[in-house]
Amino acid sequence: MKTVHIELLNRNKTIENIAGVLVRQIEARCGAKAGESKGEASIRLAVRQGIGEEGFEIADGPNGSVQITGNDERGLLYGVGKFLRSSRFDEEGFTPGGWRGRSVPEKPFRAIYFATHFHNFYHDAPVEAIERYVEELGLWGYNAVIVWYDMHHFNGFDDPDARKMIARLRSILKAAKRVGLRAGLTMLANEGYADSPEALRHVMTPSLALRATYGKELCPSKPGARELMLTWFEQTFRAFSEVGLDYLCIWPYDQGGCGCEQCRPWGANGFLKIAEPVALLARKAYPSIKIILSTWLFDIRENEGEWEGLARDFERRPGWVDYILADSHATFPEYPLAHDAPGGLPLVNFPEISMWGMYPWGGYGANPLPERFQGLWDSIGRKLSGGFPYSEGIFEDINKAVISGFYWKSDRKAEETLKEYIAYEYSPDAVKDILCAVRALEKNHTRPEKDGGSAEAFAALSRAESHVAPSARRAWRWRILYLRALLDREHYAIPGRRTEEARRAISELVEIYHAQNAEASVKPPL
Ligand SMILES: [Zn+2]
Repeated sequence: MKTVHIELLNRNKTIENIAGVLVRQIEARCGAKAGESKGEASIRLAVRQGIGEEGFEIADGPNGSVQITGNDERGLLYGVGKFLRSSRFDEEGFTPGGWRGRSVPEKPFRAIYFATHFHNFYHDAPVEAIERYVEELGLWGYNAVIVWYDMHHFNGFDDPDARKMIARLRSILKAAKRVGLRAGLTMLANEGYADSPEALRHVMTPSLALRATYGKELCPSKPGARELMLTWFEQTFRAFSEVGLDYLCIWPYDQGGCGCEQCRPWGANGFLKIAEPVALLARKAYPSIKIILSTWLFDIRENEGEWEGLARDFERRPGWVDYILADSHATFPEYPLAHDAPGGLPLVNFPEISMWGMYPWGGYGANPLPERFQGLWDSIGRKLSGGFPYSEGIFEDINKAVISGFYWKSDRKAEETLKEYIAYEYSPDAVKDILCAVRALEKNHTRPEKDGGSAEAFAALSRAESHVAPSARRAWRWRILYLRALLDREHYAIPGRRTEEARRAISELVEIYHAQNAEASVKPPL
């Protein structure tokens, strides 16, 4: 079908924006025209309570139409996503999806964190590209976008670069709000600007050094430091008043922390002394804001009493925290696996989908790791109320989809989501071949000495390519997967030598990521 009629049974700005997402997805994928004028296919969009929070229903409508009903606006967005993923886009135009039924998400907190630094994609790509990407992640079921105003880059709030960053972060969060998603900030509890007063700075210890610090953070036990930090944070919170903040995540480490006598052990002492007033300050600015207290890198090498201390402190459930965050670089920490979260609070995770096992991050294209994330999820998923993956760019798009599937329904398998992803982003006729290629790419993720099947992966993608519609073949999601397979093949064919073809692939990745000025950690190695 070449024309698609979209009818809005309810109307407000958010629903119109969600309809806009549907139009853009259809038109970009097959060249069909979609809009509110008559068409061969007809899609009705509605919002009606009673399905279940953030849930949706897709059903046959009158006269051969399809009706997507959201329980609320976000539910409608997720219904549109599900409908699109079961639809077909090819030379024939658009074939409406046949999936019918109801679906309601299991986990209430399903956010994504964009790191906007090192001149990575989120830092340097045109902001419109990031706004579109926010919508696309919404289609997968994410319900919030979280960003960080990383103060150590700037000499105070009035630094022109700080203002530029705030403006960018606002645009990203506004894009989330436009389609009904929530917005949040993440921060270090004792964060400081580049020019923070040296006399008030934190005390460095070997244990703190294990967790990375900028050296600009303040010690909240030093007279005046707490007041100064709260002044800074209030400015930051106020800077987002036109967006409206729904979440604040407060971090102990990486960077952050203080090793002085009055603050030790940081996670169960100094951290809480500053995190509580920060949380109350955020509540004053945004009364319904939810506070997530992070335990990242607690007791990292040895038991410093952080987890146990926090559990003791929270024996009576504190009023200022809504969620406890637990996770780590490689595996899930032991304490929350063996115990309930401190205070009996709901627990959320922070999957590291970007950096693990590949350097530069995304440097060789897509990094699909469905098997790894399935294993991690199996160990903890049922205990969680959701979470938010850490993202350094678009190269882990497949991982984002896989994690969104877990949050939506905890027994949904990574492979099931992956199949849906492949059918939608590449082609329903290429699922088998691409699935097989992704498995081999995961085996070769860390470039082990023994080739896990680079030639087979490349051959499978080459076979799949003829099924992929021209618009999808030009799209970045196909190119980063294809280039990854190509780079793996070249790597194993002629170890230690960069071929001309590999060089071209790397240059293309730089273009796709807008990484021309990126730092080494996020720049494909030219
Ligand atoms: Zn201190």
